[in-house]
Amino acid sequence: MESVYLRMTPSPRIAVVGGGWAGAAAALTLARAGRAVHVFEANRVPGGRARAVSHGGRTFDNGQHLLLGAYSRSLDLIASVQPVAQAVTRLPLSLHTAGTGARRLALAAPALPAPWHLLAAFLSARGLTIADRLATLRWADQALRSRHSVADDLTVADLLAAQPAAPREMLWEPLCIAALNTPAECASASVFVEILRRSFLGDRADCDLIIPRVDLSQLFPAPALAEVAARRGRVTLGSVVRGLRAERSPTGQVRYALDAGENTASFDHVVIATGPQHVARLLEPLAAESSESNEPGTALGAACRQIVTALQRLAYEAITTIHFEFLHRGAPHGSSAMALDNAPMLMLDGHPGQWLFWHRLANGHWGGSVVISAHRRDDEASALVDVALQQLRRVWDVPAPVWQTAVTEKRATYACTPAQVRVLKQLPARIGRLHFAGDWTYPLLPATLEAAVLSGERAAHAILNEQQ
Ligand SMILES: Cc1cc2nc3c(=O)[nH]c(=O)nc-3n(C[C@H](O)[C@H](O)[C@H](O)COP(=O)(O)OP(=O)(O)OC[C@H]3O[C@@H](n4cnc5c(N)ncnc54)[C@H](O)[C@@H]3O)c2cc1C
Repeated sequence: MESVYLRMTPSPRIAVVGGGWAGAAAALTLARAGRAVHVFEANRVPGGRARAVSHGGRTFDNGQHLLLGAYSRSLDLIASVQPVAQAVTRLPLSLHTAGTGARRLALAAPALPAPWHLLAAFLSARGLTIADRLATLRWADQALRSRHSVADDLTVADLLAAQPAAPREMLWEPLCIAALNTPAECASASVFVEILRRSFLGDRADCDLIIPRVDLSQLFPAPALAEVAARRGRVTLGSVVRGLRAERSPTGQVRYALDAGENTASFDHVVIATGPQHVARLLEPLAAESSESNEPGTALGAACRQIVTALQRLAYEAITTIHFEFLHRGAPHGSSAMALDNAPMLMLDGHPGQWLFWHRLANGHWGGSVVISAHRRDDEASALVDVALQQLRRVWDVPAPVWQTAVTEKRATYACTPAQVRVLKQLPARIGRLHFAGDWTYPLLPATLEAAVLSGERAAHAILNEQQ
């Protein structure tokens, strides 16, 4: 009897709107559980804010990305679609300031079991006095091990107020801007502490630095969506969903009609996995449902309006990445060549870049990517390239680049402020069979690949649980 019933019950139709990391994680999880999924992605290249860009015969990332060892779901999913050792470089925690100035930090975690690796890293950190090192350890111990949750209106600057200037300015503030893409004076302390706890309080490998070796689309979204298609799914790239309407299925269930031009269709479950700035437009038809009306969308209307109103007020931070290609990367000026040559990721002085990543490119040249997080200036790309090159030349004797480009993502992440985190935490992760995924739906963590992937998996599991 049961098999007849199963044969007669049509499989629910599931759509995922957005083929970024969240949408790809949701679709892959559903496809691996045997569900046929239709993914709509507006761009011709999957990956969203972490994707490959091809221009002028070169392929590069829209922005340099770094993962932490604690990003366990992202790393597991990457490893499930390709051999992970070929896809990423994993390095033990090491934070080095580039340059020869007096204010240089050099901190590296030795191969000791946790927590001795961190204890040794902080105690042997160069650039900090013994008093600074002890104060840093004491602060980290108190802030991270405390059983009390951090007050949700506290900023990172408030949290660090009692720290001496050197560790605050050379260590914690650069980490805050790297992890939260928000300056310490307005960044959420509770989110900062959460990411530090996940990286520092677990296994030694949780604080490893993980640098992609393949482009960001190939790192996960492209192979994940290829697998979705191979598992009876459908992936439509270059297809913009313009809006959702609610309608009744023949069985009386609410279904969602996706307006996607020639790909328009109705679905039982929809995962909206777009960036926050695109959600309002998708929900507008649902949010416009009159509260007086008896139409099927009515129950959804108020909840959709809450989300639309909150997301329309969201403020963002930009990130600019300046990619250079050099024939060789030049020798560092007057400092130990060893230390700088062995570090693929270095802290810069913040004028304008905060971080530099060296890559060996497939053509044998050197790629140098300068990252400007929480970038609030409106400089022309060419002016930015010039100042970033001058910045590198203060440290290395680099030759003229053979190629360069600057990519600014104006809405790289939502600003991770206490007020915005509070608003995002109050939004529902689903309204009926309409699910939300994306970094903004997982505000326990900053807007990162890990938040995106966790949110996508959560949406997929909610659908699977309902169908059991
Ligand atoms: C320059 C830069 C550097 C960053 N650095 C890091 C880092 O080092 N480490 C880290 O962990 N995170 C980093 N981040 C953040 C990280 O990239 C994001 O948190 C993550 O990619 C968000 O993924 P998502 O799937 O939630 O959203 P998105 O990537 O925004 O994906 C949404 C997708 O939906 C599609 N879409 C939108 N509207 C529609 C529509 N109407 N119809 C169909 N498709 C639609 C978009 O095209 C997009 O592909 C960085 C971000 C940027 C921009």
